[in-house]
Amino acid sequence: MSTYAEFYRRSIDDRDAFWAEQARLIDWKQAPRTICDDSKPPFTRWFAGGTTNLCHNAVDRHLATRPDQPALIYVSSETGAERTYSFRQLHAEVQRAAAALRSLGVQKGDRVLIYMPMIAEAAFAMLACARIGAIHSVVFGGFASVSLASRIEDATPKVIVSADAGSRGGKVVAYKPLLDEAIRLSSHKPQSVLMVDRGLAPMESVAGRDHDWAALTEKHSSVSVDCEWLDSTDISYILYTSGTTGKPKGVQRDVGGYAVALAASMKHIFLGEPGETYFSTSDIGWVVGHSYIVYGPLLAGMATIMYEGLPIRPDAGVWWSLVEKYKVTSMFSAPTAVRVLKKQDPAFLKKYDLSSLKALFLAGEPLDEPTAQWISDGLGRPIIDNYWQTESGWPILALANGVEMKTSKFGSPGLPMYGYDIKLVHESTGKELTAPGEKGVVVIEGPTPPGFMQTVWGDDQRYVDTYWHTVPGRTVYSTFDWGIKDKDGYFFILGRTDDVINVAGHRLGTREIEESISSHPNVAEVAVVGVADSLKGQVAMAFVVPRDTAGLTDTAARLKLEGDIMKVVDEQLGAVARPSRVHFVNLLPKTRSGKLLRRAIQAVAEGRDAGDLTTIEDPTALQQIRDLMAP
Ligand code: AMP
Repeated sequence: MSTYAEFYRRSIDDRDAFWAEQARLIDWKQAPRTICDDSKPPFTRWFAGGTTNLCHNAVDRHLATRPDQPALIYVSSETGAERTYSFRQLHAEVQRAAAALRSLGVQKGDRVLIYMPMIAEAAFAMLACARIGAIHSVVFGGFASVSLASRIEDATPKVIVSADAGSRGGKVVAYKPLLDEAIRLSSHKPQSVLMVDRGLAPMESVAGRDHDWAALTEKHSSVSVDCEWLDSTDISYILYTSGTTGKPKGVQRDVGGYAVALAASMKHIFLGEPGETYFSTSDIGWVVGHSYIVYGPLLAGMATIMYEGLPIRPDAGVWWSLVEKYKVTSMFSAPTAVRVLKKQDPAFLKKYDLSSLKALFLAGEPLDEPTAQWISDGLGRPIIDNYWQTESGWPILALANGVEMKTSKFGSPGLPMYGYDIKLVHESTGKELTAPGEKGVVVIEGPTPPGFMQTVWGDDQRYVDTYWHTVPGRTVYSTFDWGIKDKDGYFFILGRTDDVINVAGHRLGTREIEESISSHPNVAEVAVVGVADSLKGQVAMAFVVPRDTAGLTDTAARLKLEGDIMKVVDEQLGAVARPSRVHFVNLLPKTRSGKLLRRAIQAVAEGRDAGDLTTIEDPTALQQIRDLMAP
């Protein structure tokens, strides 16, 4: 076995040979002609000329060797449902779903928007799209009508698949009214809507447009649908994510590069072997759910657990009971979930047999050292922090313990993963920083590796303009994260360089929240910043200049307006985006040229020094915020 340093070097210096080898981890109908076509940077085309299919590799391929082995284990601690689908059963369900979508006119290249809770049908729908070459766009079920409408508008789906409701902490959240409202708001109208009826919430059906999942899939239960052989560079999916501007970006991913990247990551990073069980506690609405609930584990021939519910219901042992019951070998969660568990009785960590677990992988937000230490002590298992983004599709920084065992340094997500040529550059000069401990922006030198986003859906120029920045001598991809590197090459991530905040591992754009708050009639101006929080990592905090301050003299009136503004955000974007507090001020701190001083507001809200304020128009604006924050 080579050392990781050699493995990594080869991935950069002998790129094509390295990835040609990784490409053998999946089945190809036709072998790729070119490994990496980088002739039109930054648009890298991986495995061009090859044809393959994600669903074939995730499902059909395993029928010969493990038809009766568990493939999808669906557990809901909300409804009490628990069901295991073998690869054979999953194959049948996916074919039925594919036939149902075809019967609604879905063809290769058509978009299918999936707005669903964590139920098995969501995975069937995703795999069915992959099977027939339709492009899925999964929208997180926690988003509300305005967020959903902007995604419908941009992805222009032919069909939307949804369900009557999700459930969270025992509370039913109806999806259908939000979906109907989103379709009303969007200028694009889907031809059909396919609804799973879980019997949780009543639904009003739109005649001619809405169809029942159970009835339609049943009608096609004997139809067989072959996998469509797709070009490696065809589009597999679009997944929207937040950035600096209010409009979410559709991260577009390919088929072949993604399949190879995931298969390789299962082997080298996630220590997954066929026949084992993977448990990711994420949601299919996020990139972790795409890569490591649905595609990655199934590509590796593993069983994957899909879990609906909280980590602490019925008690804080629920996840560990699943690890014991299904002999989970790799588990993937987020630091926030660990911090939630940290508030519970630690005896739950010792109650179940966790000896099957090779490692717990944590990602999505910074993993603080005390939290890492607590869970490491409690589980007695390796904890592997890993850093990546919706854009990358798989870890950028981690430990590749499948190649060579390395020890974690708590607080660091580890080393650059193979295929990623990572640099730290100076924020304004773009000069590369090489000395240990120097803080810079984390950038990636092209070509980006397999699995990385191809472009922004429908907007190549936006991909180039947003992400690719010119530094002396070349153009590099910016992660928009600050980082430093230590003398051993371990990276530490120090937060975003842009206006994106990370609330409980959920990535949100402060501009989106500001736009939503601005729609309240009594809001003249607003600034939203991310403020450090001991449980959620960060929370959104809003500072609002009201139009009419006359009625806001007493606390009750201010609280009422604060509640009303929160409700607007809940209804438009979803509760995930709701600010933790809305404070009222007379004016916002701005520069003399009218630019909002967000970093200063954030610093003051976190009780830190506001930094250089030489350009501030009116210092009293910041003083007001300081006074509000005073204990
Ligand atoms: P998302 O696209 O939702 O996965 O969010 C990606 C962003 O989350 C990154 O750009 C980072 O700011 C943050 N992030 C993800 N994983 C980590 C990690 N392990 N440590 C620190 N920050 C992280």
